[in-house]
Amino acid sequence: MIELMRSLKLDLGYDIIIISDSNTYFIDTWLNKHSFTKNIDKVFTNPANFVDGLLKIEMYHLQSDCKLSTKNLCKGRILDEYLAAQKNNGIIYDRVIYVGDGTNDLCPILRLQQDDLACVRANYKCAELVNLLRLGQPIDKSGKIYNVKSQVLIWQNGCDILSYVKNKFVS
Ligand SMILES: [Zn+2]
Repeated sequence: MIELMRSLKLDLGYDIIIISDSNTYFIDTWLNKHSFTKNIDKVFTNPANFVDGLLKIEMYHLQSDCKLSTKNLCKGRILDEYLAAQKNNGIIYDRVIYVGDGTNDLCPILRLQQDDLACVRANYKCAELVNLLRLGQPIDKSGKIYNVKSQVLIWQNGCDILSYVKNKFVS
């Protein structure tokens, strides 16, 4: 995964943001370990700090609008708000490549457009849900049908994603 991020950022010029339901301590530690902190454009995750030797984690936000997401973190809303803020700064992306594996990655994936790419990890929950939707089937008892508009790549490791991106988007 770190090699994928290195190539996307340093060779191919992508901006990289992290939207995670873990916490700032975990993400900072991981990025520091790989000396990659300065290459990440933005991190959105639950704030954490040590209080009396215990890691105290707070909610990123409190939301009730999105039923697909947990109340502490709607990744789709964060992604939409980031893209809107960038657009205000005059930055309009050709495409979004979204990489995820969990149930909470479905919301942002459903907001992707035709030219975007959803990369979902093989044998994880998100892939199961996306596969159901691509077969036109509901994902829960509500029976609601959601439409995946973007391209979809099922991945096992970062190399799968990098080869796909190089084949499809690099001329
Ligand atoms: Zn959501």
